[in-house]
Amino acid sequence: MNVQFRNLPSVDRVMQDNRIILLSQEHSRSLVLGAVREVLEEVRERIGEGSACPEFEEIVGSVISRATSIWTPSLRPVINATGVIIHTNLGRSPLSKEACQAMTLASCSFSNLEFDLDEGKRGSRHTHVEDLLIHTTGAEAGFAVNNNAAAVLLTLSTLARSKEAILSRGQSVEIGGGFRVPDVMRQSGARLVEVGTTNKTYVSDYESAIGPRTGVLLRVHSSNFRIAGFTHSTSLSDLVELGRKYDVPVVDDLGSGALLDTTRFGLGHEPMVQESVAAGADVVCFSGDKLLGGPQAGIMVGKRQCIERLKKHPLARAVRLDKSSIAGLGATLMHYLNQDAVDSIPVWRMIARSVDELDARARRWRSRLDGLPADITVVDGQSTVGGGSLPDEVLPTKLLAIRPLLPGDSRAGASPTGVVGALAGRLRRASPAVVARVDRGVLLLDPRTVLPEEDELLITVVRLAVSGPA
Ligand SMILES: *Cc1c(COP(=O)(O)O)cnc(C)c1O
Repeated sequence: MNVQFRNLPSVDRVMQDNRIILLSQEHSRSLVLGAVREVLEEVRERIGEGSACPEFEEIVGSVISRATSIWTPSLRPVINATGVIIHTNLGRSPLSKEACQAMTLASCSFSNLEFDLDEGKRGSRHTHVEDLLIHTTGAEAGFAVNNNAAAVLLTLSTLARSKEAILSRGQSVEIGGGFRVPDVMRQSGARLVEVGTTNKTYVSDYESAIGPRTGVLLRVHSSNFRIAGFTHSTSLSDLVELGRKYDVPVVDDLGSGALLDTTRFGLGHEPMVQESVAAGADVVCFSGDKLLGGPQAGIMVGKRQCIERLKKHPLARAVRLDKSSIAGLGATLMHYLNQDAVDSIPVWRMIARSVDELDARARRWRSRLDGLPADITVVDGQSTVGGGSLPDEVLPTKLLAIRPLLPGDSRAGASPTGVVGALAGRLRRASPAVVARVDRGVLLLDPRTVLPEEDELLITVVRLAVSGPA
């Protein structure tokens, strides 16, 4: 028998170590015992494969880190230094202070969620944001559910189940994360009728497809890509006119649903909710956590008659918005009403930052990182809006570029890409985690997406990670 097995400590011996006893007392003995068994089992396997038995100290260390990882929350704050503002993998929009406070308040206490305080009887959760939606978009009515995918599903299920939904071929798109228009259509029970061609669809294409089974005319914003060149798409006003002529409702899925004009910030024009409402769409669907800058939600605004039907559909209950999101969405919409959205909503504040401001901030970071084993400079770069909005558009920015010095002994495998990859890994595993961009052996940090109050933490984490082991 392999002599290494004899060095393997017993479960009892590990459990009697003082640090392990302490851990069991702080948390739960059975969870710690489970961690000890798992670690010893893995060590046993490795010995079977020819490894030496690790020192007792190392085994105890593995048990402690395994056990403590169970008590570390899986969902943690991250500093987004990528320069992608609405970063889908990093939780999309961070919320305004007021929205966060409103969400906390709604979560920590009872509320009049479904209670009419004037009348002292049952109320509706839909009332809390409807007036705000009406005032900010100009629509007759509004209603919010769990996310925009649910809003589109609910709208199609209500207006076009067992009927046909007419859509331009160029708009039969995949938005990402499994949201494909034809699949959502199938789930809703509507039959997709594609008209026109990928690059050109005329109003006459829609008109010739209209028949007794037509349920809706659908327009989908091609959020995350552009068709350029020899193209034609039918305007929403033309679709609305056609819809009126044949008494067919028009649904517009805007995706991002900007309430501010992006051209104010040197960007291209992202379609605005107010424009779709003014064009007369019966239902306009958009997300709460893209350019609106609020909590995850799917919002439908439009004609009262259609919106009331959506509220009554059985699916509406299944996809309803929870109380904290209702509170956060309300507080976010209030910023637009008070005309302080650019100053208060983080995504707009990030979009609005000037290059001079970003340059000053990157230089301030630079001055705080002196004396580290790295070549640190401020360079020109580009940020993006993200979240499937304005795909070809970039915002000029300034980046902090960190090129770690290669270890002096030039150990095998210490390539610039390897060293910078290891640094990016240390930043991701830090607390708080920092997610950066890596480009050809350089680590890039974009101040545009870092919240101002995160600056000190970021500098501390970067200092530690850059001076850490290569
Ligand atoms: C993002 C997007 C959706 C999905 O919205 P979620 O809020 O992520 O569910 C639907 N349609 C379009 C056009 C989009 O851009």
